Amino acid sequence: MDALDRIVLEVDRAADEIVEFTRALVRIPTVNPPGESYEACARFLGDQLERHKFAVEYIVADGYTDHSARYPRVNVVGTRHGSHAGPGVHLNGHIDVVPPGEGWTVDPFQGIVRDGRIFGRGVCDMKAGIAAAVFAAEALARAGVAVPGALEISGTVDEESGGFAGVAHLAKIGRMARKQTRFVIIPEPLNVDRICIGHRGVYWSELTTKGRIAHGSMPFLGASAIDGMANVLTAIRRDLEPVLDRRVTAMPVVPDAARRATININGIDGGQRVDGIQTPCVADRCRAVFDRRFLDEEEFAEVKAELARLIDRALNGTTGIEYELRDLMIVQPVKTPPDSPLIGALDGAICRVLGSSARLVASPGTYDHKHVTRIAGIADCVAYGPGEIEMAHQPDESCAVADVINATKVMALATLELSGLAG
Ligand SMILES: [Zn+2]
Repeated sequence: MDALDRIVLEVDRAADEIVEFTRALVRIPTVNPPGESYEACARFLGDQLERHKFAVEYIVADGYTDHSARYPRVNVVGTRHGSHAGPGVHLNGHIDVVPPGEGWTVDPFQGIVRDGRIFGRGVCDMKAGIAAAVFAAEALARAGVAVPGALEISGTVDEESGGFAGVAHLAKIGRMARKQTRFVIIPEPLNVDRICIGHRGVYWSELTTKGRIAHGSMPFLGASAIDGMANVLTAIRRDLEPVLDRRVTAMPVVPDAARRATININGIDGGQRVDGIQTPCVADRCRAVFDRRFLDEEEFAEVKAELARLIDRALNGTTGIEYELRDLMIVQPVKTPPDSPLIGALDGAICRVLGSSARLVASPGTYDHKHVTRIAGIADCVAYGPGEIEMAHQPDESCAVADVINATKVMALATLELSGLAG
């Protein structure tokens, strides 16, 4: 039996352990917001890594607004040195999950197994992926193969809210850096036969329209900030959306409709509080938050200027209305280099384990890839992990046991190959 067959066999032998470890992670309710049980989850993961002969460190990201004594931002990083000194492979998963929301028919934090699937909030996004990473590394050890480069596994916080106290923090303090890490795999749930090579850009902005208050029985004496905002929203629908819809990226973003540029209105708030006491007043203030997703082929400066021009045109001639546009978040698109050895190694492993070659995709949303590439300076990063992306954040979130096992095999085989290429 060759080394690769031995690795696959060790994953099969560990199947029950992998499932139990996934379930145990689900039972720690790391809900974000507010960032519940991060420390318990980081310690649980760290203890397992220690049992697997990793040197483990806990990195607390204090100094971020969401960090507090009650909700500490605790990241865990384990390192296992290879047979040669030098940079290696890093498997990174976020430990936070979104709130369960309504509509569950099972307990979201019990990790029950039924019909070959594990159920629970965050099982797919992405605790099954973390379990796959942990046991991919362990299968290499149990198979007795020499792993040339260092192997790192991290569990990081706050990905669902931007990842600033998580991967971005590790990158900022130099704990995730090109000098020690050559390849990064993030086991987000992009399906077991697909490799995710990046994501679109994000531009969040807040528009405030300012009018003039007057008695609501004589609205003509005031200037309604809500009417001003309505003009902007109409212009977005009528003038901007059709233009965005004609822009299509060459990146293989899934689903297909997300290959186009888009804009969503995240929220709107204007005039007096609807559930408060009502008085007859013209709204003198209205705010809205826009979520513009832009393509690799678009320039951010032009994305921003295009929106500013549209707002200016929509409000031009609306007497008494002033406005202010403020940037909230800007994320540049990222793209794995097409010749990255990561793609070849994962594709080869997927062929071996699943019998068919991988499909390359890009994510409609953003994930920690951006921090790995932009802050840590590691271009060779992809997302690959078990679970179907459509399941993420849904009620009755679940992940097929077979997917977790197969992804563990793929990650083990790919990690071994990449480790030999690192340097
Ligand atoms: Zn995720």
